[in-house]
Amino acid sequence: MYDAIVIGSGIAGAAAARILAEEQNKSVLVLEKKAHIGGNCYDEEDAHGVLIHRYGPHIFHTSDEEVYAWLSRFTDWYAFGHEVVAKVGEKLIPVPFNLNTLRQVYGEEKAAVLEQKLKDTFGEGARVPILKLREQQDPEIQAIADYVYENIFLKYTMKQWGQKPEEIDPAVTGRVPVVISHDNRYFGDKYQGMPKDGYTPMFEKMLDHPLIEVRIGVDARDVMELLEDTGKVLLYGEEFNGCVIYTGPVDELFGCRFGRLPYRSLRFDFEHLDVPDYQGHSVVNYTVSEDFTRITEFKYLTGQETDGTTIVREYPFAYTGAEGEIPYYAIMNPENNKLYESYAALTEQFPDFHLLGRLAEYKYYNIDAMAGKAIALARSLAEH
Ligand code: UDP
Repeated sequence: MYDAIVIGSGIAGAAAARILAEEQNKSVLVLEKKAHIGGNCYDEEDAHGVLIHRYGPHIFHTSDEEVYAWLSRFTDWYAFGHEVVAKVGEKLIPVPFNLNTLRQVYGEEKAAVLEQKLKDTFGEGARVPILKLREQQDPEIQAIADYVYENIFLKYTMKQWGQKPEEIDPAVTGRVPVVISHDNRYFGDKYQGMPKDGYTPMFEKMLDHPLIEVRIGVDARDVMELLEDTGKVLLYGEEFNGCVIYTGPVDELFGCRFGRLPYRSLRFDFEHLDVPDYQGHSVVNYTVSEDFTRITEFKYLTGQETDGTTIVREYPFAYTGAEGEIPYYAIMNPENNKLYESYAALTEQFPDFHLLGRLAEYKYYNIDAMAGKAIALARSLAEH
């Protein structure tokens, strides 16, 4: 009845489903466990009419022309350069740490000298991961590295990951490098902003195709069976011979038989305030104090004009798999990656079964990279 099953309707699943239907004429069944589409990009108006991101702030940014053009078929954009500040004592300083932050921390005169040294060492416009900066021998650069490490990375990373910056995958802290420029924007990409009417309408449009059927509130594990003795897939009890794209956690497909894959989760604490402004910024990172990592004030992300304002605080914790918890971030390290590989290997006995996405690939994808990967995977299935 269907040519393909896509499990999950986040950016991975939705983009893949669209390509399968539109470019390959496949009939696609999308199964979504949540009560809505869009995965963790999902946004909606809260009880006060403020557009919020239910699963934390998602800011689109890309330099990939093809992905940008493809997504632009499903939405217009509210283009803006996202900026983040960190609350350090009484000060709000720009993050990523850049030459403006340097000026704020060291004062004009000292900063001018250090700025020249940083430019001479790394080149103007360079983006230097904090762990690389810390390897520098020059005492003045070391002092900057110590400041950035102590005031921006150490406590935030301890809260977010339960580990120190040097203990986690270097690519994670490398996402927020020290930037040798006066650009305060959080991302360096050519295109940045938000879907003009929100993410949810963008996903609705992407999934709106005559060959795509979406069933929400359906846990794939209740309707799909993987028969390990024969390598067959059953859908609603009947043999299914089409392709399956799975975007959920792979351990759950096999009863977590080797132990649970570790992920970090988050608790989101939303608050609405009857004032027009709370913090004057879209995101304030709490890098030296508090139990939460950051506060997002949505109206500054979306450009929405409202009388009141809604904010959200993020409290990280270790995912346990308990009912209601959501895995957000894979904790990539050699041990966990090995465990992941042992689960991924179990899927290889199913000839047309594909793992895709943050959860299923145990990776840290941005929205654009995920869309690009989903499009490429779906196109590669053309011959099947
Ligand atoms: N990070 C930090 N302090 C900051 C911002 C980021 O220590 O002020 C570190 C932290 O380890 C975080 C990582 O850099 O998990 C990546 O940050 P990013 O903002 O990309 O995280 P996301 O928005 O994806 O949660």
